[in-house]
Amino acid sequence: MGTVEDVRIARRTGFCYGVREAIDMAKESAAAGRLTHTLGQVVHNEGVVADLLAQGVRTVDSLEDVREGTAVVIRAHGVRPDVMESAAERGLEVIDGTCSWVVAEQRQLQRLVDEGYTIVILGTPRHPEVVGLLGFAPDAIVVDEEEDWDRIPRKKRMALITQSTQPPWKFERLAAHMVGRAHELKIVNTVCPVTIRRQEDTVDVARSVDAMVVVGGRHSANTKELTRLCEIVGTPVVQIEGVADITDPALFAGRRIVGITGGTSTPIEDLETVARRVLEVAGVPAVAGREAEIAHGALESAATPAGRTTSLPRVRAVAAASPRASEPPAPVTARGPVTRPAAH
Ligand code: SF4
Repeated sequence: MGTVEDVRIARRTGFCYGVREAIDMAKESAAAGRLTHTLGQVVHNEGVVADLLAQGVRTVDSLEDVREGTAVVIRAHGVRPDVMESAAERGLEVIDGTCSWVVAEQRQLQRLVDEGYTIVILGTPRHPEVVGLLGFAPDAIVVDEEEDWDRIPRKKRMALITQSTQPPWKFERLAAHMVGRAHELKIVNTVCPVTIRRQEDTVDVARSVDAMVVVGGRHSANTKELTRLCEIVGTPVVQIEGVADITDPALFAGRRIVGITGGTSTPIEDLETVARRVLEVAGVPAVAGREAEIAHGALESAATPAGRTTSLPRVRAVAAASPRASEPPAPVTARGPVTRPAAH
């Protein structure tokens, strides 16, 4: 017999605005009758990729796989400038879904290069966003975990910038580490505010429940960070990729209230499905038959309504009417061939 009486979904979860915009662009393009591709998986979520495929959007690994005249969507992580240029040269219709925050980050990085700084990027070396950033600063030193930091040289003028989804505490610690290594140190904080808010909301819910479920890609840095924060709070936590991973009621043995959160590539609907599944496998008898209703109630209580996952007209209208102060300007939503200059 299960022990779970209730479920709570963290506030402000679901897709971040960068991921949502890129997915919307791909859907809009396919709906307009264009043969549409995304360069790399738009998110590492099989359900989302399958949904896009059903709507006519294919994932390709390389521009070589895209026929001239067809459309290619650049995902939120962005790409190196030469990828943009070669897409245009190949006669592809480039739909630039690079998140506006990442665009701002690329521009700031380019400025640091122009100003002659030795640049350190805090990030995961092979992460697509970092690969794209290196296209703007090929000589930058990429460091991730603390063991790497001794590789940072001592230089007169250094600059530090970060991959958007790195944890703020790590960025601050690295900045402190670098203070003694440079005569002049320029720090550009490009940690994405969406990531910070999500971490705060995850901690809030983790403090109010008996166990947490974190839903997201196994290798997703921002998902792993949510799991780590739950551990720091001291709440037992399990990280899963999707609802199919919840089969064992023992995961929730003795837990009364279970909290659920997800990474920036996890659709909010997945959290509702997971909430329902937790109740199905580990709920007390009193919740039997009401699992869907309770899970839906938990979703309704989260600040991000489910409609934000697939957005289109309503979200754009709302966003245009009330831009959020902590977010960068609206993204470039190019619908025709685009080449981004190498320097800004
Ligand atoms: S920078 Fe922030 S909003 Fe943009 S894609 Fe990354 S996590 Fe999402």
